[in-house]
Amino acid sequence: MSDRPKIRLHVDHPLGPGQTVDLSRDQANYLFNVMRLGPGAEVALFNGRDGEWRAVVAEAGKRGGSLSCVEQTAPLLLPPDLWLLFAPIKKARTDFIVEKAAEMGAARILPVQTEFTNAERIRQDRLQAHAIEAAEQCGGTFVPEVAELQRLDRMLDDWPEDRQMIYADEALAGAAEALSAAPRATRWAILIGPEGGFSEPERARLRALPFVTPVSLGPRILRADTAAVAALTLFQSTRGDWR
Ligand code: SAM
Repeated sequence: MSDRPKIRLHVDHPLGPGQTVDLSRDQANYLFNVMRLGPGAEVALFNGRDGEWRAVVAEAGKRGGSLSCVEQTAPLLLPPDLWLLFAPIKKARTDFIVEKAAEMGAARILPVQTEFTNAERIRQDRLQAHAIEAAEQCGGTFVPEVAELQRLDRMLDDWPEDRQMIYADEALAGAAEALSAAPRATRWAILIGPEGGFSEPERARLRALPFVTPVSLGPRILRADTAAVAALTLFQSTRGDWR
């Protein structure tokens, strides 16, 4: 593959040889006013489906413009089939979790409401935009979907049998090896609790579920955002695509 252009842009448009991609006002503003690109400049485009494409600016206007695809510069690289379930916390820390999950290779990001979850609602569109920005910045060709907030108990009622769950429980000690002993599976999820942790009934239910592997993330209690990054690291290095 040839050199990839430095400026990357996610577009919601099919990409292929000779394909013209019309830009939204925001995208045109970013490329032509912020980044000061003009006709003929190169941009890397990806849409989460067709890999990354080198494109050149065909038209550069104040409120719009278009690019023309030249060649594919990277194939679509899918992450492992790993979901990250987390209980939303304060805005900036929730943004951090979504950004890091997208960078670290989660396939889906699912905010869940637990008994002690502080946030009653999330701005799904804003969080999805964070996941897109993270993919643009880290060279990814895939963007994880950010789901709407769902109740954890209802998700567990309908949990797909073939998806294993790694449940991060700060009350455990010395269970890091639990993950290596967990069943072989291709579909996974990680579950991180809220600032107040899980309630006792939630703990009891989670531990009794056949698809759940409780894991410790060490002897210190981590903030939920740190725990999400730690659990993603643990998964990716033992079961995921860092091996
Ligand atoms: N209930 C806790 C307390 O106040 O003592 C705090 C919960 S912690 C801030 C948020 C979440 O991060 C937990 O529900 C758990 O999923 C995860 N977590 C934090 N530290 C952990 C550890 N050492 N091992 C496993 N999970 C941890």
